Amino acid sequence: MQRRWVPALIALAAALVVAEVGVLVFWPEGGVVRPDDVAASAYFTPEQISRAADFRGPQVWLYLAGMLLELAVLGLLVACPPRLLREQDGRGAVLRRVAGAAAALSLLLTLVGLPLAAVGRQRGIDVGLVTRSWPGWAQDVMLGAAIQAGLMALTALALVGLMRRVPRWWWLPASGVVVAGAAVVLYLTPVVLDPLFNRFTPVQGPVRTEVLTLAERAGVDVGEVYVVDASRRTTAANAYVAGFGPTKRVVVYDNLLERFSADELRLVLAHELAHQRYDDVPRGLLYVLLVAPFGMLAVARLTAASRPERSPAGTGTRRLADARTLPALALSLSLVVPAVTTISNQLSRRVEARADSFALQLTDAPKSFIAFKRRATVRNVSEPDPPGPSRWLFGTHPTPLERIGAAEAWARGVRP
Ligand SMILES: [Zn+2]
Repeated sequence: MQRRWVPALIALAAALVVAEVGVLVFWPEGGVVRPDDVAASAYFTPEQISRAADFRGPQVWLYLAGMLLELAVLGLLVACPPRLLREQDGRGAVLRRVAGAAAALSLLLTLVGLPLAAVGRQRGIDVGLVTRSWPGWAQDVMLGAAIQAGLMALTALALVGLMRRVPRWWWLPASGVVVAGAAVVLYLTPVVLDPLFNRFTPVQGPVRTEVLTLAERAGVDVGEVYVVDASRRTTAANAYVAGFGPTKRVVVYDNLLERFSADELRLVLAHELAHQRYDDVPRGLLYVLLVAPFGMLAVARLTAASRPERSPAGTGTRRLADARTLPALALSLSLVVPAVTTISNQLSRRVEARADSFALQLTDAPKSFIAFKRRATVRNVSEPDPPGPSRWLFGTHPTPLERIGAAEAWARGVRP
């Protein structure tokens, strides 16, 4: 191995260690019911289990293939940078070129991943999960690609701008940019980005009364409650919290509102209220604040290693970052971000388990909880008990079976 990779790998290892330390620092000790060890066959038919495995297994491989493809494309661009990236003279021109190249790179990656995405989507149609037409999907893809290209251009401008200004220490202010960017995106997503794809209607009538009563009992200022027309794209039933401060809200899928009982809806809402009760969104941002400097240091070292900044012969000056740095930068980000996310998912699973326990406490309806988990798992074609590696790599929530196990434990009197 070449020596220039050593500092990069040390920095990557340090970022992963800090990510793990962050998991321990933010780990919620209490408030989580220890789940009973239950068997999938007690809640799901063999057909339901095998149908989910047949669907989800290859979806995971498609996802991994997409990631590898992206890394391969970026690696290729690092090894043989295309003409397009060659810099022009003049100060302003460099950054203009960076923004344009970043947008082009983002569009290229979307395009390269499109066949795999289409296969995954067709498989979703086959199991009845996808409701959107192909033209509708094409529209979503184009809109998504345009937004992503814009965000990539902005990010590239900020990062390459910093690389040029403070070549040695750019990763430190860059981590500030990352955290501020995450906060802005989190804040604006529900009010700016989401409405581009879906219609959000404030929930009225008995459901609203229900939410407010629950929120009062939970001691939570709920923000607003919206129903989203998710049925335009999927038959899945879900709910989530988004935004923070003035934009914080609970969003419920119309599928959930229309097809599930009042008891089941109450449980879902109670789970989402738990996230607000425990400030899980702002705490997530604090976690990012802790990990970002080390993550960006790893990105900086990896970028430097994959594109050594040799001085032009005889001048003795350091070569500044420009559009040609982008593939190396993108490649480093594509390595560091998923690696850190895998570590931080441990924390996410624990936080989600706590929200479940809170929901059980607030509603004291473990039987409804189990009934809901069974129905939702079958409806969403989810695996009750996914294989260990995919659970560890991608699991942001406890498995459906662990969640059922927690409700069973609650039913027989176990408390956090
Ligand atoms: Zn949750």
